[in-house]
Formats: sequence, C-alpha cells, structure tokens
Amino acid sequence: MAALWRGTPCFRREPGLCRTVRALSSGKSEYDLLVIGGGSGGLACAKEASQFGKKVAVLDYVDPTPKGTKWGLGGTCVNVGCIPKKLMHQASLFGGSLKDARRYGWNISHPANHDWSTMAKAVQNHVKSLNWGHRVQLQDKKVKYLNLKGSFLDEHTIRGSTKGGKEIFLTAENIVLATGGRPKYPEKIAGAREYGITSDDIFWLKRSPGKTLVVGASYVSLECAGFLTGLGLDATVMMRSIPLRGFDQQMAALVTDYMEDYGTRFLKKCSPTKVKKTDNGRLRVTWKYVDSGKEKTDEFDTVMWAVGRAPDTRTLNLESVGVKINSETGKIIVDAGEATSVPHIYAIGDITEGRPELTPTAIAAGKLLARRLFSQSAEVMDYDNVPTTVFTPLEYGCVGLSEEKSASRFGSDHIEVYHAFYKPLEFTVAERNAPQCYIKMVCLRDGEQRILGLHFIGPNAGEVIQGFALGIKCGATYSQMMATVGIHPTCAEEVTKLYITKRSGADPTVTGC
Ligand code: FAD
Ligand code: NDP
Repeated sequence: MAALWRGTPCFRREPGLCRTVRALSSGKSEYDLLVIGGGSGGLACAKEASQFGKKVAVLDYVDPTPKGTKWGLGGTCVNVGCIPKKLMHQASLFGGSLKDARRYGWNISHPANHDWSTMAKAVQNHVKSLNWGHRVQLQDKKVKYLNLKGSFLDEHTIRGSTKGGKEIFLTAENIVLATGGRPKYPEKIAGAREYGITSDDIFWLKRSPGKTLVVGASYVSLECAGFLTGLGLDATVMMRSIPLRGFDQQMAALVTDYMEDYGTRFLKKCSPTKVKKTDNGRLRVTWKYVDSGKEKTDEFDTVMWAVGRAPDTRTLNLESVGVKINSETGKIIVDAGEATSVPHIYAIGDITEGRPELTPTAIAAGKLLARRLFSQSAEVMDYDNVPTTVFTPLEYGCVGLSEEKSASRFGSDHIEVYHAFYKPLEFTVAERNAPQCYIKMVCLRDGEQRILGLHFIGPNAGEVIQGFALGIKCGATYSQMMATVGIHPTCAEEVTKLYITKRSGADPTVTGC
C-alpha cells in the first residue's frame, strides 16, 4: 500500500488503495473537527470551532436535482430556502403595495405587470453573492472548505468524493454531521419525478412557472403558492388533509382562508394519482377526492411537490460506524448535547430526530456544540419556545404552544385564551379586506397566568413575534404583558391590549384607536 503523508489529501482511483489514513500513522488525526455539510448548522459550527484555534474542515457537496438544478456553498437556507423564499415573498407583497399606493395618491399605471426573469435573476445574483461570502468567511477563519461528498470509511476517517469520482480521505478527532435534507417526491405517482419540480428548483427557474399546482399543505407549499399568487400567477394548492400540521389549527385555517380570498385556489381533501405530459407540453394532473374517490383532472404548466423533506443520511455510510438513525424517518438520533450513538460523532440541524427544521436552531446548535467541544462551555441548545413565521401572503408568526397542545398538556380548564381580531391601520386607507388579522395568547389560567403561546397573523409577523419571544423565553405572564406599553400605532401593540377571553364568548373584534 502506498505510504501516506498525513497533511496531504489522498486521492485515489483504484479501490483498495490508501485504506485508512489514520491507521497508518501515529493515531493523531489531521483535523480537530471535520464537518460534513456546509449549510446553516455546519458552517456555524465550523466557524465557531475555528475561533478556538482548532484545525477545521468543511465538506459541502450538492447533488443536482432530477431537473439538473444545482447551487453553491451555504446549504438549503441560502440557496433553496429561507433567502430566495423571503425575497420572492417580498416581490409578491409589492403587488399589494402597488394597489395600496394608488389609494394613497400614487399614480401608477394599470396594469402593473411582473417580470419573473428580472426577479429571478436579481434573487439568484444575491444568492450567488452569499455563496461567495461564505467561502470568503471560511478562508478568513482558516477553515478548509472542500467541495466533496463525504461518507464514513471508519469512525475517524471520511471519504470525500469529487464530482469526477476521485476520492480523498480525511481524518478527524471529532466529526459533525450536518447534511440537512432534500425534498421528497411522492412514490407511486406516475410522472411525479419525471415532470414535477420541487422547492429545490422553483427559485432557480429562469422563466415563470406559469399556472402552477403545488402539492402539500405545509410551510413550503403555502409559502410558495402564496408568492406565486402574489406575483399574479394562477396557483393551486392540493391538500390531502389539514394545512400546517403541528401548528395551531385555528391560525392555520385563517392563513388558508386569507390565501383563498387572495386568489390561491385550494383543492381540499385531494390526492394526486398521475401526471402526464400533453401534446401541447402542458402537464395533465389527475387526482382523487379522498372522501368520495371521485377523479378529476386539470392542466398545469408546472407541478411542484411540497410533500415533505427527507434527511440526507442515506449515502453517509452511517451503518458502517454504528451511528443510529430512526429507521422510519432516516433521521439521526442525538442526545441533548447533539451526540450520536458513537462518541466523537455529532449531528445537528435538519438531519437530527425531533428537532425543529429551522435555520436559527441549526446555527445555534452548531455554535453551542463547538463551544462545548473546544471551550469550557457546558451549555446545550434549548429547543423550547423557538419562534417561527410562515411567510404566507398574510404572515403567521408564533412562539410557544398551540391552543391544542396547551389544552392537552394542562387541560382546557387550566388555560385561558385571550384573543382579538384587529385591522392594521395601513389597511384602512388602502381599503384592504383582511378579516383574518388575528392574535391569540394562550396562558395558564391560575396564578401569574404564565404565557404558554403567542400567535399572530398579520403584516410583518416575524418582526412582531421576535421581540415577544424574548419575554416568553423569560417566563412572561399575562399581567406583565398587560403592563407593557404598546407602540402606537402598530399591529404589535394589539398584543399588549388583549383582554377578551375565548371563554367569555365576547366579540373579540378590536374597534377604534
Ligand atoms: P442544510 O442547510 O440543508 O445544509 C446541508 C448541506 O450539506 C447542503 O449544502 C447539502 O448539499 C450538503 N450535503 C448533504 N450531504 C452531503 C455529503 N454527503 N457531503 C457533503 N455535503 C453534503 N428555515 C427558517 O428558519 N426560516 C425560513 O424562512 C425557512 N424557509 C425555508 C424555505 C424552504 C423552501 C425550505 C426548503 C426550508 C426553509 N427553512 C427555513 C428551513 C432551513 O432552510 C433549514 O432548516 C436549514 O437550512 C437546515 O440547516 P442544516 O445545516 O441542517 O442543513
Ligand atoms: P412537512 O413535512 O412539514 O409537510 C409536508 C406536507 O406534504 C404535509 O402537508 C403533508 O400532508 C403533505 N404530503 C406528504 N405526502 C404527501 C403525498 N404523498 N401527497 C400529498 N400530500 C402529501 O414539509 P415541508 O416541506 O413543508 O417543510 C419541511 C420543514 O422545513 C418544516 O417543518 C419547517 O421546519 C421547514 N421550513 C420552514 C419555513 C419557515 O421557517 N418559514 C419555511 C419552509 C420550510 P399531511 O399533513 O396530510 O401528512
């Protein structure tokens, strides 16, 4: 076997050559930390570890989608998630703002048309600048970036494969898995993979998707269908059960009600059965009504699957080193300290079992892990009271428990729900009809009335919820919230004025100033 020098990456073409680099030498690994996956969690962990003077490498590799879409460093959030999504959401909100502006005296010629390619190019250029920014940051922090697909050779050795099939072997004392997830395609639906796209493609389309069917009813589906509608496209959501599973269902229904008023079509209790290409190049989708079994078809220009995401753990060769996964979800089982079943192998972010699939939790988990590994810290990530926002046309932000979860955990008699329907001041002159603007605060009924959950539907929901999340994290109570002075005139101030309980049955509509 060829002798290997530790500092030199070992490339090979023939199998069997340069087996385990670590075993050939003194036993000391080349890197203190090797991170597989350069997304939200992996990059944060690697950068933090480098602050402690550790030798760190990050492997990141993107398998192109079945449609051939690919992107650069930064993971899901940067390339095919939060960032392009929020920018396209913003683009779509401008449509409403243009209409509002006319009411406020602006002369804007009719009709204001949207150009997809201009938007897409601008968004994609921004994403590319972020890819570049991440590379520069890694270089500045002396983190080695390798565009390789990683998998385990042994517990301390990672095999990295290049696009061209070359292999490089790297050894590390600690290994962090942060490979995230990829959208699923439904199985057993003819034409699904052949003709459909996913959220991994939509943000990189050069031309407008046209009339679009979005299948699924969670975050990804509703957000994408929402911005497509706002951009003036014909968008339909096909939903087999409930919207936004896991979220407060009263809020979820208000979100979809508004979307329907806004122009998004909903095919409820329907499941697709096949997709075919027609002679004129369109996609003919057949679906079944869940209850009656009745079949229907329609033609679309684009079919987008938003039927959930699968963790990218299959090709890591986890079984060879004994990293335990949940065989149903494919997710890695970790303890409170993000440790897997193998000492010195950790996992963070979307590939971990039971964690929220959100960028800020992946980042925080990565940073805290690096501090525990290489500094004196013992702090673990607290996954309670994680705030989040669904960027639908009318946004929905929340923190803490839903009404359903509060009731099941504490009993309906032990919770008090304060609520209000309100009208944002800006909507009055604009004559916008949004009766779904609603706030709900779920509290314990007894004693100090600790706040269990806060739910807000309205403009800028993320901005509104972010600050309140601090209070709720600190154990804020109903009376403390009522003692908080509002900022007038804002939507957020309505939170500090909630006094009608659901139990009272009184009309929760806020009127006047
Ligand atoms: P990722 O960011 O997915 O990074 C994993 C990286 O590892 C990828 O680059 C992948 O290609 C790479 N990789 C995979 N396998 C290998 C391998 N074997 N070797 C080397 N590299 C590999 N979250 C929010 O907080 N707010 C939002 O508004 C939001 N919007 C979203 C919108 C959409 C459409 C989607 C899909 C997600 C959204 N999310 C949002 C979720 C968020 O993007 C993820 O939770 C987050 O990116 C997870 O980070 P991660 O580090 O776990 O993995
Ligand atoms: P989810 O797993 O949350 O939802 C999947 C949806 O697809 C459900 O509505 C499900 O219906 C439906 N579905 C599943 N299989 C089928 C099928 N065969 N036919 C029809 N419908 C089907 O996945 P998402 O991709 O929406 O989101 C993944 C994660 O990404 C989220 O949990 C979230 O953490 C993160 N994210 C965060 C965002 C943010 O912070 N704003 C935005 C987007 C994503 P059913 O309920 O009946 O099973």
